[in-house]
Amino acid sequence: MQVDRAHYAPSRPYSDSPQPIGHGATISAPHMHGHACEYLIDYLQPGAHVLDIGSGSGYLTHVIANLVADTGSSSDDGLVIGVDHIPALVELARNNMNKSQEGRKLQSTGQVKFIAADGRLGWKDGAPYDAIHVGAAAETLHPVLIDQLRAPGRLFIPVESEQNSISSLGEGQWIWVVDKAADGSVHKKKVFQVSYVPLTDAPRP
Ligand code: SAH
Repeated sequence: MQVDRAHYAPSRPYSDSPQPIGHGATISAPHMHGHACEYLIDYLQPGAHVLDIGSGSGYLTHVIANLVADTGSSSDDGLVIGVDHIPALVELARNNMNKSQEGRKLQSTGQVKFIAADGRLGWKDGAPYDAIHVGAAAETLHPVLIDQLRAPGRLFIPVESEQNSISSLGEGQWIWVVDKAADGSVHKKKVFQVSYVPLTDAPRP
């Protein structure tokens, strides 16, 4: 409730459905942002480092920043990095967040950064991350993202099921929650079926 979706969704901001934001991307539906935060909430403590891959509109990046940024203190406290491979969307996210005073402050202190890069490689500079959120469907559970998790840390990622599975029940995209425990052991769980745009190669300019 503290981040106005109207700053991020160009149409029907308060409807519980995805909305187009240009460049073939969408801002996810509020219930999906809710699910993502619910699954990550234990890792979104003040001071945490978080990576938001496929940050698109920047809305979820801002919500996460409100949870982890300790606005009363130094800029070292809490860091959220939004990565998108379309530079125009990186610019859009920055501009959307600049529509509120809190959003401007989070960017000027460096607690929120938007970066243009291929999110399938994660983003080494802010690692290790307490939480990594992926907002587009991956072909695999990219091991490099698990490498960039802190121990303990959690990855929330939609992944395409194998096309050749025998039962159609297993097809489609599923959210996987991957936990790296304090001892470094990795535990993977397939939690619910979803429909995201794919994590792809960047379009040619
Ligand atoms: N969380 C965003 C979702 C945007 S849609 C929101 O709610 O606004 C998914 C985003 O993933 C798109 O912006 C798309 O540009 C981005 N994307 C797709 N493939 C990517 C890749 N390889 N690296 C980084 N971003 C990618």
